[in-house]
Amino acid sequence: MPRPLVVANWKMHGSRPANAELLAALLAARPYAAEVAFCVPFVYLHETAATLAGSELRWGAQDVSEHAQGAYTGEISAAMLAECGCRYVLVGHSERRTHHGEGDALVARKAQAALGRGLTPIVCVGETLAEREAGDTEAVVKRQLSAVIHQLAHCAAEMVVAYEPVWAIGTGRQASPEQAQAVHAVLRAQLQAATGRAQAMTILYGGSVKPDNAAALFAQPDIDGGLIGGASLKAADFTAICRAAG
Ligand code: PEP
Repeated sequence: MPRPLVVANWKMHGSRPANAELLAALLAARPYAAEVAFCVPFVYLHETAATLAGSELRWGAQDVSEHAQGAYTGEISAAMLAECGCRYVLVGHSERRTHHGEGDALVARKAQAALGRGLTPIVCVGETLAEREAGDTEAVVKRQLSAVIHQLAHCAAEMVVAYEPVWAIGTGRQASPEQAQAVHAVLRAQLQAATGRAQAMTILYGGSVKPDNAAALFAQPDIDGGLIGGASLKAADFTAICRAAG
């Protein structure tokens, strides 16, 4: 069993005063049995790093370029994130897949770019409501994960996977612990077939995790922690979720 991991995804939220208040509260509430990390907007990385330096809390970004450097206006490379002390980077979040047209192959190349600079990619997979209702959940998440497994090859065991059903993100409608566990078991079996080391890999659940449902989700055998959006912006809620993980 890996150490539980709880990752905040601030999305495009925050301000310097609000971030300072939130991080101060999370620092004050230590220690946590789980590893806790904050994926913040790029512009706040330096300040987040300065605030969390010297603590065991980690930080990361919400996206990364597939390219190492060059004429890619607006992009941020993995090397730049490494310079900011990032440990993690989200890749393939459903909001990037939906609003920015990111497909499986691009997500896989981004994961590889991250690993190449020593960052741990948190690879997000998940089905839409229409895909679930059509009975395609398993096929969709396996296809999304398969692209990354093939790209990373012998390094595939280094990634973190986050199962985030699209219909549960930001909607208040979370997967039941049993629904989430069923998909996590499928993902772990796929990772095991590819790496032989899946028991040591981390698979997070994300999608409307709140203090009142976190413990039941994290109690499932294949759920190793959470990727938390809305609730990560409220210090009391996020602290409670971190505690529920370990
Ligand atoms: C997310 O953005 O990854 C997420 C899980 O959001 P929320 O917790 O708000 O559903």
